[in-house]
Amino acid sequence: MSTLKRKESMVWREGDQLLVTPLGAGSEVGRSCVYMTYKDKTVLFDCGIHPAYSGMAALPYFDEIDPSTIDVLLVTHFHLDHAASLPYFLEKTTFNGRVFMTHATKAIYKLLLSDYVKVSKVSVEDMLFDEQDILRSMDKIEVIDFHQTQEVNGIRFWCYTAGHVLGAAMFMVDIAGVRVLYTGDYSREEDRHLRAAETPPFSPDVCIIESTYGVQLHQPRAVREKRFTDVVHSVVSQGGRVLIPAFALGRAQELLLILDEYWAAHPELHNIPIYYASPLAKRCMAVYQTYINAMNDRIRTQFEGSNPFDFKHILPLKSIENFEDDGPSVVMASPGGLQSGLSRQLFDIWCHDRKNACVIPGYVVEGTLAKTIMNEPKEVTLMNGLQAPLNMQVHYISFSAIHADFSQTSAFLNELRPPNIILVHGEANEMGRLKQKLLSQFADQNMRVLSPKNCQTVEMPFNAEKTAKAIGRLAEKTPEEGNQVSGLLVRKGFTYQIVAPEDLHVFTQLSTGTVTQRLSIPYKGAFSVLKNRLQQLYEGVETSNDEVPTLKVHDKVTVKQEGADYVVLQWVSDPISDMVSDSIIVMMMNFNPESSRAKSPDSDLKEGKVEKDFSKIIQSLFSSLFGDVKEEEGKLIVSVDGIMAIVDHANNTVACENENLKERIKTALNRMRNAIKPIGSH
Ligand code: ZN
Ligand code: ZN
Repeated sequence: MSTLKRKESMVWREGDQLLVTPLGAGSEVGRSCVYMTYKDKTVLFDCGIHPAYSGMAALPYFDEIDPSTIDVLLVTHFHLDHAASLPYFLEKTTFNGRVFMTHATKAIYKLLLSDYVKVSKVSVEDMLFDEQDILRSMDKIEVIDFHQTQEVNGIRFWCYTAGHVLGAAMFMVDIAGVRVLYTGDYSREEDRHLRAAETPPFSPDVCIIESTYGVQLHQPRAVREKRFTDVVHSVVSQGGRVLIPAFALGRAQELLLILDEYWAAHPELHNIPIYYASPLAKRCMAVYQTYINAMNDRIRTQFEGSNPFDFKHILPLKSIENFEDDGPSVVMASPGGLQSGLSRQLFDIWCHDRKNACVIPGYVVEGTLAKTIMNEPKEVTLMNGLQAPLNMQVHYISFSAIHADFSQTSAFLNELRPPNIILVHGEANEMGRLKQKLLSQFADQNMRVLSPKNCQTVEMPFNAEKTAKAIGRLAEKTPEEGNQVSGLLVRKGFTYQIVAPEDLHVFTQLSTGTVTQRLSIPYKGAFSVLKNRLQQLYEGVETSNDEVPTLKVHDKVTVKQEGADYVVLQWVSDPISDMVSDSIIVMMMNFNPESSRAKSPDSDLKEGKVEKDFSKIIQSLFSSLFGDVKEEEGKLIVSVDGIMAIVDHANNTVACENENLKERIKTALNRMRNAIKPIGSH
């Protein structure tokens, strides 16, 4: 019963809806970009491209949003599907917010994107950005340390280690107390060079989580590694070549560590070369070495003796021209999807020979050749457009668990228990299976699991009940039930405080100021007449003995006869004094002999006009005395502390249930009539 009542009384304002819209990675893998807005604050997570498309088609759906409204853009890691549309977004759109990533991500981002611009063989029109755009974007990217809290326009955020690749972060964003965790790509398994993802110490309200592996389970690492080294060993010992198409960074480093270790343990393989063919390899290795402290303890311990990235058995390979293909070998080359570049050139040469093998070491994106050959077609189309038989063995060994599998996802969510889960970064069917499995696993938790498509917005209402803390002298006494606390409401970010004006400088950086108003009004009549009129209208009219005749009305407004033909009103501005002085001005303008003479002729037409003016003045005077006054059909509706009175000033009658108020209004009305009647009409 009570919950029902609560529900009825909940009125959501539009600003209390948290909206999340994937602009990319919605029921797909690639072009990660998630738009989130709450209470007029806007965050964009990631800014990737889709590796299977080129040119504008590879971008997230930026057209759906107004980039200029985004306060902050958070990039989780350097992979192209999370960071590669950043130069475009920063340089070619109206975005002017702030952008953050970790130090390591920023360093590798630059190397990676420069390489991407060089190797992507697209026409000039299809180029999304050039080297200059990347350099300019570097100036705009700010860095954030793990666990460091930043604040931009009232949006607070910090990040945790995500595993996955060097520098990868998951971001926690706090807007007005509502917390959203965006995992990016993450892994809870510690591997040879990276720490596992951290689990945030508290539950977020919303978790936007990758679902790449859906309900699949990774094989134990030892099993995967054995399969991998077995395949490589058997192929090379039978005279074949092993091609490992791998993304330049991340998984490649892990594979090289495994191969180097395996070769060290197998002297019979020492005459077989392992090449790491990535134009980036050397420079990226330098970055890895720089950021070695961001890696796990095992690698840091190793580093103390010798550099673990200083491989004994792995040779760099610059390009296919430098490659002597005269016997068995192992070549790791990018890109991982075999779309173009060195891995594709080698594939085209080696694919017809059944002695050779292609080992796909992890997740490959829909629409790439690597994905196509996993279904083992009989023929493939070479880069030159010709068909060739696919005889090469194809092995898919997802041995490097850089993405979470189902056991990791469910354990992670089980620890966090977020009431709202939004799945992104997963192929639609896999995501659907994951959604069902999570819903049944957390059936008793009242958990929402959503899997929006690109450009589909999900809405989550959050209770925006506002509370303000009374501080300073206002907090000295605990108020009793029914007491009123009044002071100044001070807002900082999303917190509110009630402060006594005198305390303002103690608790805030604000200072108080006063506005003194001064106004001269033409008046040629006798000052005593003015005094008399004011006394009819106001009780508190005092005469002071200044050099010039001075009146003090309501202790607040002074009226001085400073010249022969004008008086000066002066007051310190506040709502009541402003109203009092307004009413004095209206009154004077009306009975001023100057102005009344100007409208003296007594035609019927003029009568109507005078009555109308009179009514306006009465209304304004009533407002100055009683506050809330409305006009309806020539009558005034006055309401004082919830009691209503109807004033028919034309007929000089007052209707009111409360005798007290009725009398007060009648007195006021009579005073007004006397005060504002033109001088000389009696
Ligand atoms: Zn990634
Ligand atoms: Zn990704």
